[in-house]
Amino acid sequence: MRILVSGASVAGPVLAYWLTRHGFEVTVVERAPVLRKTGGHAVDLFRPAMNISEKMGVLPRVEERATGTSRMTVHQEGARRPVRVNLSKIFSAASDRHVEIMRDDLSEIYHDATRDDVEYVFGDSISAISPDGEVRFENAAPRRFDLVVGADGLHSNVRRLVFGEESRFSAFVGAYLGVLTLPNVFELDGELLIHVGVGRTAGMYGARHLGDARVLFLFRSEREFDYHHHDVPRQKELLRGAFDGMHPDVDRWLDELDRTPAFYFDSITQLHMDTWSRGRVTLVGDAGYCPGPAVGGSTSLAVVGAYVLAGELARAGGDHERAFPAYERAMAEHVRGSHAAALSAAKTLIPTSRLGVRGLAQGARLISALPAGAGRALLRLTTGSARLYNSITVDDYPPSPAASRVGLGAE
Ligand SMILES: Cc1cc2nc3c(=O)[nH]c(=O)nc-3n(C[C@H](O)[C@H](O)[C@H](O)COP(=O)(O)OP(=O)(O)OC[C@H]3O[C@@H](n4cnc5c(N)ncnc54)[C@H](O)[C@@H]3O)c2cc1C
Repeated sequence: MRILVSGASVAGPVLAYWLTRHGFEVTVVERAPVLRKTGGHAVDLFRPAMNISEKMGVLPRVEERATGTSRMTVHQEGARRPVRVNLSKIFSAASDRHVEIMRDDLSEIYHDATRDDVEYVFGDSISAISPDGEVRFENAAPRRFDLVVGADGLHSNVRRLVFGEESRFSAFVGAYLGVLTLPNVFELDGELLIHVGVGRTAGMYGARHLGDARVLFLFRSEREFDYHHHDVPRQKELLRGAFDGMHPDVDRWLDELDRTPAFYFDSITQLHMDTWSRGRVTLVGDAGYCPGPAVGGSTSLAVVGAYVLAGELARAGGDHERAFPAYERAMAEHVRGSHAAALSAAKTLIPTSRLGVRGLAQGARLISALPAGAGRALLRLTTGSARLYNSITVDDYPPSPAASRVGLGAE
């Protein structure tokens, strides 16, 4: 049985790994010409995703590539002294098993784990999918697949082709994000330096193995801006406007906007779909249920979703009419929970009032000063995310000889 996956970031390669383990034949098509290795951002893997990575045998590499961010210095706008926070303690209060890693590193690790068993096609994109499984590409000749999975992110191409325009499913969270790569001007190693003000937060971090640093800008906006997603000068102008006069550090970061080799700008948007499967096509990760970039555990959700989808397909003997609804049932509660947690994280990360600004710094300091158990309890009281990340449990879907007959053997 042949399955086509669109997108080779996180959800795509994890799905490809487990599908091949269950005996399916997998092709992954990725629009980028090569696996992206520059300008990424840090993402979180919480317990369930760590467990799945362990089953894939890649956990040592994941841990080796962890960013190692363990300290945070918070400058509150208008306050004289910064607050210093033990970030490791916050992470361990949020989840008993957690790693922060650059998305590009994670993607490379998952890709490496699959490259020998999976056909990867870079530099191409699906242009049409017919109900009988014929797939057309922008460059390659048409091919036939039994199933197609969109793992192509928040602005999924597969979703647009099969379900319609993104605007039908996206909900603006009232905030924007920008990311840029710049020289590690503060020589940060294992430290996150953030500036927090009402409606705006900017943070810079470096990682042990990176020669540069990344800055993440988050800011609120009541209304959605009118700009084209390829109009980079306009996006930079919006960012400059939002962070004008915040702090000399931030001015220095903004100065890099015209030199940065990698720039990313987007609205923080959640995806809400009643169902993310239609016919032979389904969606996984951000493509189907993004809780919002930079404000939720969307990477962990993508890993869990990919594992569950592959497992349900194997369990149903490749029958997508049984597997897709089972996959959606298994994920529904996690998706609802992560959407709610992301909204509350957005409120905390980009405070709406002076009280919120002080609360973010003081709350982080308090949690980091408490013993782990007490910190966990406090975090559970203040946000829903800790409870969510720790409570996600996933069925075990061990590859079995019977499952392997579903795939290649049954062709
Ligand atoms: C700035 C930023 C900060 C973030 N911070 C965090 C964080 O702190 N913690 C966290 O957990 N998560 C964070 N995220 C979210 C995280 O990056 C994603 O949730 C995660 O990578 C989901 O993976 P995915 O595979 O579903 O989608 P993506 O990582 O978006 O991957 C989609 C893939 O599909 C490819 N693609 C797109 N279009 C096509 C096409 N037409 N044809 C073929 N391929 C295509 C893309 O090139 C990409 O490789 C952040 C995201 C952003 C943007």
